[in-house]
Amino acid sequence: MDYDRIFKSAIDRLHDEGRYRVFIDILRTKGSFPNAHCFGGNGPKPITVWCSNDYLGMGQNPRVVEAMETALREVGAGSGGTRNISGNTHYHTELEAELASLHGKEGALLFTSGYVSNEAALSTLGKLLPDCIIFSDELNHASMIAGIKSSGCEKRVFRHNDVEHLEELLAEADPDTPKLIAFESVYSMDADISPIAAICDLADKYKALTYLDEVHAVGMYGDHGGGVSEREGVADRLTIIEGTLGKAFGVMGGYIAASKTIIDCIRSYAPGFIFTTSLSPVLVAGALASVRHLKQSQEERRAQQESAAMLKAKFAAADLPVMPSSTHIVPLLIGSPVKAKRISDVLLAEYGLYVQPINFPTVPRGTERLRFTPGPTHTPEMMDELVGALVEVFGREEIRLAA
Ligand SMILES: *Cc1c(COP(=O)(O)O)cnc(C)c1O
Repeated sequence: MDYDRIFKSAIDRLHDEGRYRVFIDILRTKGSFPNAHCFGGNGPKPITVWCSNDYLGMGQNPRVVEAMETALREVGAGSGGTRNISGNTHYHTELEAELASLHGKEGALLFTSGYVSNEAALSTLGKLLPDCIIFSDELNHASMIAGIKSSGCEKRVFRHNDVEHLEELLAEADPDTPKLIAFESVYSMDADISPIAAICDLADKYKALTYLDEVHAVGMYGDHGGGVSEREGVADRLTIIEGTLGKAFGVMGGYIAASKTIIDCIRSYAPGFIFTTSLSPVLVAGALASVRHLKQSQEERRAQQESAAMLKAKFAAADLPVMPSSTHIVPLLIGSPVKAKRISDVLLAEYGLYVQPINFPTVPRGTERLRFTPGPTHTPEMMDELVGALVEVFGREEIRLAA
């Protein structure tokens, strides 16, 4: 058996399709984001980051950094255990209370990442509900798909944000079977927002539970950063809200917020929560400072929305193929993994502009794109530089402009 050949041919397939992933080796510079340095080639080179999910720059916010420094000095580096075995620090309890209040829920539960929270919560819910059917939006994140799969439940996939299709599927199911609808608020690759209230109406009508991934919306939408569900006043209609501490909150970790009983169930039954060392108190302290800050400050959200609107307008004015976006994310459609990678490579090598190509399986084949995430610290001059570079590189690659 030539094991090595099997592994190598798996890698070759990715190269052949042009979607072999190369990680760019960077260091961000505290205090001057989106400026960073890129390693490789002839030593560190200054770059501008255009694709970070630290949408609001909270990863470098002085209050967040200071909270982490303080925690590190006072209690040390790691938590030293699972939540059950000495790893349940006061920071964890405080952050869970803060997150429960952010979403108007009775309780919240921390996980080591948003991925783990989706995987652990969905798989456990599905196992606890006898014969449950899970209704899943076709563009749901890989972590939700993994959780649904390991729940062992029957899964019915509805067309993206298509409420009529969802209703068709709900109506076909046995009225007495438990049902769960799993979806996201902001779909970060397509930059659109789901009809949360309409999905909650269907959940009421067909007596289904709802599970909303607000990973790309927490910190970003709502007067306190509670996400799209806060902005639209529907948080109380959702059974479970899930979020991350690693994107707009700028640190690391994931969580769910729900009723006391559901939180108690996941806490007690989910292996992905139980059998792993809890988040470092340093991370939790940083996340707590970030959540608290974004609960009372509108400034970061306002400046970010302004940046996103400006970049969309500049892309459109230059006839760049900007995809429709009702959110803070600005995707440009390329439609080929090879071209997306080449444009990204040229932008980095020649212009010091960093935007990662987004390829299958993150997005469907043929819809490969570049995904820009302008933030409060991207200036109009940086945007003009970016637009100029894109127009030049698109011309070189013979990518047809809009219009
Ligand atoms: C990034 C992401 C996650 C995972 O969150 P992490 O904290 O990065 O693990 C979950 N859901 C969606 C929609 C995401 O984009």
